[in-house]
Amino acid sequence: MPEFVTIPALLNLHHTDRVLCDTREGLENVTRDQRAAEDHLAKLDDELSRMERELREILAKIAAEELETDVKLQHIEKMRTALNETKTTKDYSAILVQISAEKALVAELEGKTEVLMANKQDLEKAIETHKEKRRMGADNLAALRASSAAKVAELNHRIEELLAARVEAVAKVPAEALKHYERIAQRHPGEVMAPVEFEEGDLENIACGGCFMGLNREDVNLLRGRDEIRRCRSCGRILYFARITTSDAKSTAK
Ligand SMILES: [Zn+2]
Repeated sequence: MPEFVTIPALLNLHHTDRVLCDTREGLENVTRDQRAAEDHLAKLDDELSRMERELREILAKIAAEELETDVKLQHIEKMRTALNETKTTKDYSAILVQISAEKALVAELEGKTEVLMANKQDLEKAIETHKEKRRMGADNLAALRASSAAKVAELNHRIEELLAARVEAVAKVPAEALKHYERIAQRHPGEVMAPVEFEEGDLENIACGGCFMGLNREDVNLLRGRDEIRRCRSCGRILYFARITTSDAKSTAK
């Protein structure tokens, strides 16, 4: 009977990883509402930036139109002065026509500016409402953070401890087996190992405890006889006999 080193060392690592996964999941749950509130707040911020950008564009347009109106009004004034200095009726009429044309343009510009001013007022009101919404979102997030801070700190501390324990567990696993383990862990985090499941005396129905697909009796025999890893052909998990688990691992590794 060979001395079994590999599977017990792997099971020890497996046990640590399971607890680590559960703890991380716990942290995930605690911070889920918080992250949702953070996302919500980020969206409100984006929307606020968009609205403020739009407001700046409107203000720039208004300024440009007001400038254009001023220029036109000044020109109209000049033409009025010129009107008094005309010598012929023909020149007089020509300038009058030009003045009335420019006045029409000014009226058109003023109409446009009025529309923009109305848009600006609506947008300013919307921004105020939006800022209020954002304030409520920030308050909600602060409250969530305050209520979960202690729990988050505790879970983070636990995770640090588990990561240290994991380093120790990893050191005990033979290099080749560890390579397999870490590769499977990427696909089945915290569930790399699966117990071989069968009823005592019914060796026709042997199954992988991870995916529940049937296993060969040959797999089981090899697993019994050698200190090396056997993997489920269906899911790739590393198989073990529950009877050679440590009592620690047995309680959590199922
Ligand atoms: Zn399997």
